[in-house]
Formats: sequence, C-alpha cells, structure tokens
Amino acid sequence: MASHQQGTNLPANIHAPASPRQVMPAIESGPVPVFTMTPARKGKAPTHLADLDIPARKKASEEAGLPKFRADQLSRHYFERHETAHTSLTDIPAAQRETVAEIFFPPLLEKVRNLTADRGQTIKTLWRLFDGAMVETVLMKYPGRTTLCISSQAGCGMACPFCATGQGGLTRNLSTGEIVEQVRMGMVAAESGDLAGGSTCVTNIVFMGMGEPLANWKQVQAALHRLIEPSPSGFGISARNVTVSTVGMVPLIAKLAEEGLPVTLAVSLHAPDDELRDPLIPLNSRFKVKELLDAARAYFVKTGRRVSIEYALIRDMNDHQWRAQLLADELNKRGRGWVHVNPIPLNPTPGSIWTASLPEVQRIFVDTLVAAGIPTTIRDTRGSDIDGACGQLAAEVKATSVRARKAQEAAEAMKSNDQTEVK
Ligand code: SAH
Repeated sequence: MASHQQGTNLPANIHAPASPRQVMPAIESGPVPVFTMTPARKGKAPTHLADLDIPARKKASEEAGLPKFRADQLSRHYFERHETAHTSLTDIPAAQRETVAEIFFPPLLEKVRNLTADRGQTIKTLWRLFDGAMVETVLMKYPGRTTLCISSQAGCGMACPFCATGQGGLTRNLSTGEIVEQVRMGMVAAESGDLAGGSTCVTNIVFMGMGEPLANWKQVQAALHRLIEPSPSGFGISARNVTVSTVGMVPLIAKLAEEGLPVTLAVSLHAPDDELRDPLIPLNSRFKVKELLDAARAYFVKTGRRVSIEYALIRDMNDHQWRAQLLADELNKRGRGWVHVNPIPLNPTPGSIWTASLPEVQRIFVDTLVAAGIPTTIRDTRGSDIDGACGQLAAEVKATSVRARKAQEAAEAMKSNDQTEVK
C-alpha cells in the first residue's frame, strides 16, 4: 500500500494514482491572447450619481442649479429604493424630474438578454454599455443567500489560457457607475422575483465576472465604497459579503488591505509552484507564488478576513497529489486559520483542449489538503450549462456556445411545459 503513496505526509487512507502525467499549458486553438494592462478602448461612460461620493453629489446638484439637499433625496432613491425612473422621483418638483433623472441617472446598462439555469435559480445577463462594449453578470440564489457576480472590465487583459474571458482580450475598464449599476440592476431583478422562488434581496457580491478588478483599481475602489457604505452614501452591503477576486496583483492587494473595507479576498492561484504557474498565469512572470501568498497572508493580518484560494482543477495539469501537499505546506508555513481553499472543477470553454480533473483525483486533492489541516470546500459551479460559470463569461452574442444554446432551449421548453401544466 505504501508504494501507492507519494509525499511524506500522505495519510494511509489516501492513495495517489500510480503514474501521474504532467500536461503543461499549451497554445489553444484560435488566436493567442496577449497579456495587457492597456485597454483597446479609452471611452468613458457618462457621469452618474453612482460615480460620485457625497460631497461630489452635492456639488453636482449645485452645478445643476438645484438645492444641495436634492443630492440626498436622489441618493436615497438610488441606494435605498434602487429606483432611477423620473416617474419615481415624487419628492422632486414635477417640472424638474425628467431633467434631474437625465443628469444624475443616465442609462449605463442596456439589457441584451437573460439566460436562466439551475431551475431558475441562476440568471446570466448580458449588458450593452454606452459604447457598445458588452459585460455579463450572474445572479445566483442559494439557501439563505443571493449572490451577484459582477464584472469590473469589459473583457480581460490577463490572458489566462483556460479562461474564456481572457481569450477575447481587454476592451476597456468599466467606470464606477457601470460597476455599481450592475449591482442595482441585480438587486432590482432579485426584488422583482426574477429568480425561482420569488422576490429576494441580493446579500453577496463577488467580483468574479469579467475582468481583473485590481487592474481597474481606482474605479473598483470607489465602487466598493458605494457597495458597502450605508445609505445615502451606498447600498450598505456587509463588507464580509463582498468578495474581490484577483489573479495576483500583489501591490494592489496591499492597497486593498489599507482601504479599511474588510472585504473578502479571493486569490486565483491554480498552481503552488512557479514552474507551472508561470505558463498558466501570465501575470506570474511579475509576481511569483511566494510573493502572492505573502501578500494574501498580509491581507489576513491587516483585515482579519480569511482569504480564499481559488484553484481550478485541470486534469493532469495541476491536480497532482504532490501539488495539493505543496500547496498545504506553503499555506501552513504562513500560519494556521488564515486561509481556506476552494478547488473548482475546470469549466469547459470554447475550443479548450483541457478538461476537469477526474472525480477520484479531485477527491485525493481535497483529502490531502484537509489532512494537512487546510479548510477546503469544492466550489459549487453554477450556470455552467449557460456558460455562466467561472471562466466562461465571454459577453458576445455570437459566442454563445452550441451547448449553452441547447441548454437554454431545453430550459425554455421545460418552462413552457411547466406553464402549460399550471394553466
Ligand atoms: N481576474 C480575477 C477575477 C475573475 S474571477 C481573477 O482571476 O480572480 C473568475 C474565477 O474563475 C477566477 O478564479 C478564475 O481563475 C476562475 N476561472 C477562470 N476560468 C475558469 C474555468 N475555465 N473553469 C473554472 N474556473 C475558471
């Protein structure tokens, strides 16, 4: 039995496969994505109330020839009641409502389409921005919470070869207003009962949609304040329920820690060794695994928030038992109780040559981490049949895969059957 085991700390009940293969990241079919921090477009969305902090809102009110207190009234419409239509601004003189709405609430997101999955508990929405750029959000209902996954950039410049968003490159950074509007729209959808089971409130926000949030730091920083500060400044979402996920922009992890908003930090690690992380995550050429884990640990020390390590399990590439052990060792070296690991089976992306790890291999990976004392939970993958899961957001109407289209058609057929049965 011992001959099956690898590594020194492997418990007797965990058996590694006899001869693990090593697949290295290779160039996938189609154009090779290039790492970039420079957006293809420079356009900036019209200024919106959600772009502004309270003093700037007061100033904008004065500039529009309105008394300062209008800023407070408008903020409450937006952040408490989630409404922007001029018809809802009943505490503003009737003659001014339309103009006020035009100035403070220019439409930033136009809904292109919704796709639903998981029996109506997941909705992926495609949005068109003022300049035609597209982004996606995913709204997910769980027992006891409703989570909205939002985008921080149109596209992404990080060029991770296993992620659909990374294949299309970076179109542009989103404005604070465009980020915050995704949240308001998600709240409106949840409150209007768009998810199965009826009206609900968005409780959790994850920056796990399109883009690298820390590559659009200034706008994301302001958006975090709008999300977390109580009304009339913001929505008043609990900081611990807001997750910022990064591929590893080390200096900005330190800035996030200093922001005084103890949000949850997720680090997309995917490999504990530079030999593999270098070809898998282009940014690793700048910031190595050890530096990244040090920054993650420092984040915990500064904020007291336990850090999540995201790890997409890719068959024969990063799912070896020795890597689970190395990951556990690197984490334990930096202390106990500061981190947990979220392995996630790789979601398929168009043209990808890689697949998710085998269930048995996944089990060994998880068991090895757990045996080393690392809290580990396999992440639930929502919406994979509508390309709504992690790494599948591509935001092009045409890019909807045949699989996603079929799943949607089936869901719609089921829905109309359900409706027929009800009638
Ligand atoms: N750029 C940020 C935010 C994106 S979050 C980041 O990298 O953290 C999206 C998460 O899904 C990241 O953890 C990302 O690494 C992961 N992911 C990307 N492609 C995936 C895929 N095909 N299957 C599973 N997870 C994937």
